[in-house]
Formats: sequence, C-alpha cells, structure tokens
Amino acid sequence: MKNKKTASIYVHIPFCIKKCGYCDFLSFPATETMRASYLDALCHEIAGYASDDREIVSLYFGGGTPSLLTGAQAETLIACVGDNFPLRTDAEITIEANPGTLTGRKCADYLRAGVNRLSIGLQSTIDRELRILGRIHTYDEFLEQYHTARDKGFSNISIDLMSALPDQAVSDYLTSVERVARLRPEHISAYSLTIEEGTPFGKDPELPGRLPDEDAEREMYYAAGELLRGFGYERYEISNYAKPGFESLHNTGYWTGREYLGFGLGASSYYRGARYHNCRDLDRYLSLWGDSAGQRAPWTPGDVSAGKNMAPFVEDYHSVTERERMEEFMFLGLRRTEGVSRETFQETFHRTVDDVYGDAIRKLEREKLIETDGKRIKLTDKGIDVSNYALSEFLF
Ligand code: SF4
Repeated sequence: MKNKKTASIYVHIPFCIKKCGYCDFLSFPATETMRASYLDALCHEIAGYASDDREIVSLYFGGGTPSLLTGAQAETLIACVGDNFPLRTDAEITIEANPGTLTGRKCADYLRAGVNRLSIGLQSTIDRELRILGRIHTYDEFLEQYHTARDKGFSNISIDLMSALPDQAVSDYLTSVERVARLRPEHISAYSLTIEEGTPFGKDPELPGRLPDEDAEREMYYAAGELLRGFGYERYEISNYAKPGFESLHNTGYWTGREYLGFGLGASSYYRGARYHNCRDLDRYLSLWGDSAGQRAPWTPGDVSAGKNMAPFVEDYHSVTERERMEEFMFLGLRRTEGVSRETFQETFHRTVDDVYGDAIRKLEREKLIETDGKRIKLTDKGIDVSNYALSEFLF
C-alpha cells in the first residue's frame, strides 16, 4: 500500500437556490425530485468507475451549492466513494457551503458523515456588496453559521472572499479581510472578481465603469496579504492563504499534477494520463441512467485505446501529451508561492527545465517577473501582478 499512487475525487453538485449575477459555473435551481434523481445518477456513475489502483487522498464536493445536500445525502455519497475506491481514513473531505443553506443540524450531520473541512462562500462582509453580487445571505447570517459550525466541531474551515467588486473601495475590501481574519478560519481564499461573458454582470454596460482600477486592485491584493500575514496566515498560492498545516490538500493536488476523477454534470477528470469531462446537459446526464446503467459499467477511465469503454456522457477525451504535462507543471506550479522545483521537473520529464524553457526563463528573469536559483523558479511580486502574461510564456 505504501507506494500506491494517489488521486483525488471531485463531486459536482450543480444546484443553487438562485443564480448570482457574476456566476458562470454550471449551476441552476432545481426541484427536490430532480436533486434526488441526480444523486442516484451520481452513485451509479461513481460505482461504474470502481477501482482500487489509486489511493484517494481528498474528496471535494463543489458546485453549485453542495450544502443543499442533506446530511443523509452527503453520507450516502461519501459511503459510495468509500465502497468503490480506497478512500484513505485520513482523507481530506471538503464540502462547499453557502451560508444561506447551512444549519446546525447539517453541520453535525456532515461531520458525522465524515466531512472534515468546510469551505464557506462568504465573498464580502458588507451587505451592500453581497446584494450587488446577488448572494442569498447577509454577513450576520454567515456569522451565525460560522459560529454554529465551530460549535458543532468543524476544526478546519475555509472562507472565500472576493475583491475588485463594483463600487468597492480599497478600505471596504480590507474591512472584509480583517473581519474574516479576526474569526481565525484555518484557510482563506481571496480571488478577484472576473466578469464573465453571458452573465448579468457581463451584459451590464455600466459595470466596467464601477469596477476598481488596476492600481486599486493591486493595492487590495498587497494590503490584504500584509494584513493576513499579521494574523498568522501564509500565502501558499497566488490567491490562497492558510494557517501553517492547513493548506488545501485537494487544491494543491491540482497545482502539482495529482490525478483526479470528477463525477457529476460537467465534471472534469485527469486520470490515468487522460483528460476528459462529462456532458453539461442535465437531461442527457440523467437519461443515461436507469435499469440498464449497471450493464454499461464498469468503465475504465484512461483506457490506453483513447476513450474505449468510457461512460457515454464523456466528452473531449484525450491522452495528455508530454508537452501538455510540461506546460501544466510550469503553469500551475508557478501559481504556488514556493514555485517549481528544477529537480522535480528533471525527474518527471528526464530533461532539465532550462533545456525546455531556457528562453522563457531568461526573458522573464530579464523582465524581473520570475526569480530562480539552483533549486527553484518562482514568480516575483511583479510577476504575480501580470501572472497571466508571465505564465503564458510557458505554453508551447
Ligand atoms: S452560489 Fe456559487 S455556484 Fe451558486 S450561483 Fe452563486 S456563485 Fe454560482
């Protein structure tokens, strides 16, 4: 068991009470009946991929709003994963929660079911901003649920915040950061708002004029980092901060190339050297289940003969080439504060990073966007400011 490969599992719960104005995630409101059918389908899908050749080190319920699951539903899904995969006894099991859907009873039930990490989507502590975003909760409602979660026994809580909101002053954002830090969650994710095409925010012609400018955004980022450092948080990825020992195991897997299986509508997988994702159409996903579901399984994700014996709702299946793996190694690894290791690159690809990326490294070093030594390569502060540009230099 000692040297067994490891992997993660992501389970997508695409349901939300109502759509937030900025959201382009695969999520929508649904009836209880629809949700129940979906959970049945999920269990069939998970069982269809049963395998024991990877130890599962993290299980993540994302969405959507996974905290719409009842305790019993969460328990069923976790048991289903445990019945079909070697789920480590110390696996990190996270559920994303919207404060508007959490209750004390749910917290207790989730803990009993095996959930050991709660990731709460707060986004702002200012009610005016929460209303602009279209969130279904107030700051007070969040506070009540946060303290309830603590009282019930959650000892690993992450809180999501968002910067660069419409009409947001730097001081507004720092108020939210400080209020959250004072609550002492183990982990804080702080992303800036992205305006996505097709969302109500994306269609609002007046919105761009209400967004903080680049200088204000940069000030928010650095001042928040300083503030959080003062409260004992380490930044370990461009947008993620943790108390020592509480870095997200699941997300670190994405940034370090750990394989993962994604279950549910639209979920992506990277497994046995292949990438693919499930269809995004709920009717299609559900229609593929029923009495005959068992006959189609078991499926073999990552079958060498490209896509052979895959579940019928899988799309864009392709074997990942070595070039893609190198790109991801650099592109994702450089998001981490510790950067990428020259030695690990060489062990993985049997070539030095300078052989492959010498030109890009020299160029970005000249521009002071990365710093390197004999062991590691990482983004500088200036590199973080223009990370999209700096990281894109590692794409072939
Ligand atoms: S709660 Fe999250 S997933 Fe649901 S609509 Fe809002 S941002 Fe999107």
